[in-house]
Amino acid sequence: MATSIEFIARHEAALTGNYGKLPVVLARGQGSTVWDVDGKEYIDFFAGFGGTILGHCHPRLVDTMTRQAQTLWQVGNQFYSEPQIRLAEHLKSKAFDGRAFFCHSGAEAAEAAIKLARLSGGPDRPKIITMQKGFHGRTMGALSATAGPAQNGFAPLVPGFVHVPFDNLEALEEVVDGTTAAVMLEPIQGEGGINEPAKGYLRAVRELCNRCGALLIFDEVWTGVGRTGHWFGHQISGVTPDIMTLGKALGGGVPVGGILAQPRLAALLKPGTHGCTLGGNPICAAVSATVFDVIEQEKLLDCARSAGARIRDWLADSTCKSRIQAMRGAGLFIGVELAMPDATPVVRHALDHGLIINATQKNVLRICPSLIITEQQIQKALAILEKAILAV
Ligand SMILES: *Cc1c(COP(=O)(O)O)cnc(C)c1O
Repeated sequence: MATSIEFIARHEAALTGNYGKLPVVLARGQGSTVWDVDGKEYIDFFAGFGGTILGHCHPRLVDTMTRQAQTLWQVGNQFYSEPQIRLAEHLKSKAFDGRAFFCHSGAEAAEAAIKLARLSGGPDRPKIITMQKGFHGRTMGALSATAGPAQNGFAPLVPGFVHVPFDNLEALEEVVDGTTAAVMLEPIQGEGGINEPAKGYLRAVRELCNRCGALLIFDEVWTGVGRTGHWFGHQISGVTPDIMTLGKALGGGVPVGGILAQPRLAALLKPGTHGCTLGGNPICAAVSATVFDVIEQEKLLDCARSAGARIRDWLADSTCKSRIQAMRGAGLFIGVELAMPDATPVVRHALDHGLIINATQKNVLRICPSLIITEQQIQKALAILEKAILAV
């Protein structure tokens, strides 16, 4: 069998270089464990940017996918099909009484939300306000919504976007006006460093939007589908958006994105306004619907909340606690800000010792395992992490 080194050389010669890479070629996974092509085992504390919310090869997802693959693969969206109905009903019953549209990614979900906001606002309300350190994706509309260096080199961007500091109501009040179609933000910022707003902020944003006739869009691509110990991140604050975008965990690791929009807005998406050829594909939609079934039936929201609390308590009491500047987040969406300028050596040390973890904003470690991670795996992972933090 070929080794990592051989695969990496072939990769470099055949793929674009747009991702920062770690020198590991993953070959298989089971639950929260993955193995590389050289047979080395890792505990997965990041779940592929949160995608594998139920780990790798969950038997219920494998069963659903297998049965759907033997039944019906793809239908044009001029036809109805059952899996996407089941998935949409899950969103409706667990978030709010909206209508769903499906695509494949978080960026496409942002595009759908942005287009819907423009349709709703009309020509007199072109402005869409988003947050600094927010992240909405890499396509041109989503990128225009994403303030900061991700935009470098891609001008001209889509006009009409204004960026303000997150968790700063005054800054938002200054720019929201009668020309504002929407305010779009993450209930807890993910790529920005797992930043939670102060209590009351999201409600105040909701009220400001109501006063000015602007829509409120929550980007729940990171925070959705159980990650925070709630079905959706906005449920922590009890503030309901007009449109919610989803991705990452929605498909449990297969590509599914989508939006849920209030019915009066959804009614604007008439035939011809928007679409996605493979969106709501039966195989992906069936797997996604089963993700909701499993989280519900196995009470994994409770598991996420209690596991998250145990991880934070453990770290707060660990021998590396003096190197931890702050801990933020909810459920299994945990940011650990280290008292060092760059957490990359910690990530590499942990990887060498069999733990996959991620850092963002240079020094914020992100702990985002699958919701089915076991207590034993958590203990083992934390011991590796503690050593890694102390080692650098
Ligand atoms: C990852 C992410 C996106 C983009 O999702 P893709 O599937 O990579 O297009 C959008 N919004 C948020 C909050 C994200 O974390």
